[in-house]
Amino acid sequence: MHSAIENWFTATARDLPWRGDCSPWGVLVSEIMLQQTPVVRVQPVWEEWLRRWPTPAALAAEPSGEVLRAWGRLGYPRRALRLHAAATAIVERFGGEVPGSREELLTLPGVGSYTAAAVAAFAFGRRENVVDTNIRRVHARLVSGKALPAQALTAAEMALSASLLPADVGESVLWNAGVMELGALVCTARSPKCGLCPVAGECAWIAAGRPEPDYIPKGQPWAGTDRQVRGAVMAVLRAAEQPVHRDLFLAPAADLAVEAEPGLDAAHRGPVRTALEKLHALETDPSQLERAIAGLLTDGLAQHSPTGLHLPN
Ligand code: SF4
Repeated sequence: MHSAIENWFTATARDLPWRGDCSPWGVLVSEIMLQQTPVVRVQPVWEEWLRRWPTPAALAAEPSGEVLRAWGRLGYPRRALRLHAAATAIVERFGGEVPGSREELLTLPGVGSYTAAAVAAFAFGRRENVVDTNIRRVHARLVSGKALPAQALTAAEMALSASLLPADVGESVLWNAGVMELGALVCTARSPKCGLCPVAGECAWIAAGRPEPDYIPKGQPWAGTDRQVRGAVMAVLRAAEQPVHRDLFLAPAADLAVEAEPGLDAAHRGPVRTALEKLHALETDPSQLERAIAGLLTDGLAQHSPTGLHLPN
């Protein structure tokens, strides 16, 4: 099982820029971005970030509003603020170098147990028990014979993963990366491609006759949610270099007022108007819009000044 997955990974792994010859900083940025966003959306943003901010010190020197602007449409933008805070902590406490141990990584803002293990393994070549969603799904099917892992991570899963980890340090890194890649590309959540799987002959789920899952996975609703409205408001703030008056968020009739808005220069009126039109097309209830804006202010993703809302300084 181990050699089959490791050989498959060596032969077929995607050529992603945060693999191979990449700085620990690049690996850390990729792991935070990939937490809740697919590779295809992360890659162009990651490349732009590493070009602009090749070191933690470079990112730490930026105002947080600029960091949020560069986060673009990756979603869950609090991750951008946490990455900014992590860069600052790396400069202040680790001399500007990403620390290499799991314990030190765990002290950084926004770095949980998965991310700490993944950075220690993939950036520093350490033997770590890396357990993400893809790895959990492969272990559940291949070893435990279940269609899906438990709804929340269990101690038994962590123990199973630790028991499967090769003793050899180099092989453990390859194993972690290989199982994760298998889960991302072949043993996918909705339609596993068992015909392409290098370990199909040893799969406990196949041997058990492909039993149904114990539960129906919850889809993540998007349309009509506060997250959707927050995303639309953030798009307006990212497009504007100056504060945008609160009234402009509220009503389609206010679109025309963008032309006369003294806070907006000519270069930004078009993108701001486009972003406002998308927000207004949602036809959000005013109370939901107010709630979304209040949430952004509370989370530090937006600020308000006498002239309107803007990204944090
Ligand atoms: S055979 Fe199918 S279910 Fe089993 S590990 Fe491979 S892809 Fe996943």
